[in-house]
Amino acid sequence: TQELHIVGGGMAGSEAAWQAANMGVKVVLHEMRPKVKTFAHQTGNLGEMVCSNSFRSDDHEQNAVGLLHWEMLQAGGLIMATAYDRRLPAGGALAVDREGFAQSVTDALRDHPNILISYEEIDTLPDDGQWIFATGPLTSPALGEAIQRETGSDRLAFFDAIAPIVYAESIDMSVAWRQSRYDKGETEEERKAYLNCPMTKEQYEAFIDALLAADKTEFHEGETAGYFDGCLPIEVMAERGRETLRHGPMKPIGLTNAHKPEEKAYAVVQLRRDNALGTLYNIVGFQTKMKYGAQASVFKMIPGLENASFARLGGIHRNTFLNSPTLLDDQMRLRSKPNIRFAGQVTGVEGYVESAAMGLISGRMAASEILGKTMPSVPQDSAHGALIHHITGGAEAKTFQPMNVNFGLFRPLEGLRGGRKGRRERYKGYTDRAKEVWSAWLAEQGVDGQAAE
Ligand code: FAD
Repeated sequence: TQELHIVGGGMAGSEAAWQAANMGVKVVLHEMRPKVKTFAHQTGNLGEMVCSNSFRSDDHEQNAVGLLHWEMLQAGGLIMATAYDRRLPAGGALAVDREGFAQSVTDALRDHPNILISYEEIDTLPDDGQWIFATGPLTSPALGEAIQRETGSDRLAFFDAIAPIVYAESIDMSVAWRQSRYDKGETEEERKAYLNCPMTKEQYEAFIDALLAADKTEFHEGETAGYFDGCLPIEVMAERGRETLRHGPMKPIGLTNAHKPEEKAYAVVQLRRDNALGTLYNIVGFQTKMKYGAQASVFKMIPGLENASFARLGGIHRNTFLNSPTLLDDQMRLRSKPNIRFAGQVTGVEGYVESAAMGLISGRMAASEILGKTMPSVPQDSAHGALIHHITGGAEAKTFQPMNVNFGLFRPLEGLRGGRKGRRERYKGYTDRAKEVWSAWLAEQGVDGQAAE
């Protein structure tokens, strides 16, 4: 049978190689380190964690990332099994001994009879053979150029400028109202696609003061090239002048407060729908380098967002990623070159766990294709399925930015709605439903899930 080539031995590539090799497919894993370095990786090990040593919450019932842990364990995932093996005490989080973790991942892959590791940089998208590209946020520049030649330069980003994303249900609609600027839009839905939060002069001035005073994170060395291309952090805009935001993303023009039509807002914060389900909204133009703690308190000063809960906070990072909703099919194949799959952070997910999860799926998809089997489609109500569905179809292509797994990506549960007390029950409902469909999906493929409670 045909070999599977995997480029990049990070979180996604390592997991993809493990899954495919265990399904009986011969894998060549191409990794450019240690010959070619990145600004963040320190070693030549596979599965190196570049920053924090945590896989985040390990709560399998109330947390979406914890649910991904559970699903990966059930699927015999290398990254999760190794993480448990190398676990360090860290309360509810799954933190690991970083070096021991990467060493174990490297050993497991090197010792696998179906895997060959080839230490070299790949800088083209080959026309033949089965390939998975899992080259991550720091994809080498030569390969980045090759991808751009294939996809068009506007379909591969080198930075993410993430505006905070809010759960729709946590926005106070007695303050906010739905309206697009100048009521633009062909359909009623388009004319109502934005939520608006009004500010008085006093509220605006206090908000600017808070932005200027907030704690910010620094860029990593080597990270900033190209950063000022149209994605200024809001606090930098505020530093340029107290009125800058009021003439930029916070301009009030063309908007009328539906609750108080006679009052002219001094500034307006707009939120735009972020997914097809309508459960998530991003704050338009609010990319930021404020620290997470500061963001939560500053953004809660916005009228209507006093009780907001955030699906993810804002950020600006060096990050190479595809516009997956337009470029990839639901099998994670490049539409224009279906012998090539992508996996990991380069597909527009964010984080070690999410990246490894996308590696798990793409490895199984590619191996199934090589073995001439049909892989049953990944159930949308699992955490893996919710993520894949988001990046390959559910997300808005025009404003696509990398995404962490979160319950806002899940289809709503019948009969369970809103409220704090309701939330625990709802999250348990999501995780119960996910475990059921994920176990059934694995069973259909003959994978005998390991109990991982
Ligand atoms: P990676 O793990 O980066 O693996 C990609 C691999 O591909 C690398 O080994 C690289 O050497 C190799 N490669 C690249 N180009 C080529 C090529 N042309 N040929 C051959 N090999 C190639 N996530 C978190 O969850 N927590 C954090 O604290 C965190 N901090 C981060 C800090 C920084 C500075 C950065 C850049 C990212 C951070 N992330 C963090 C994101 C994290 O790096 C990713 O989520 C995760 O590592 C992505 O997995 P991946 O497999 O897609 O990419």
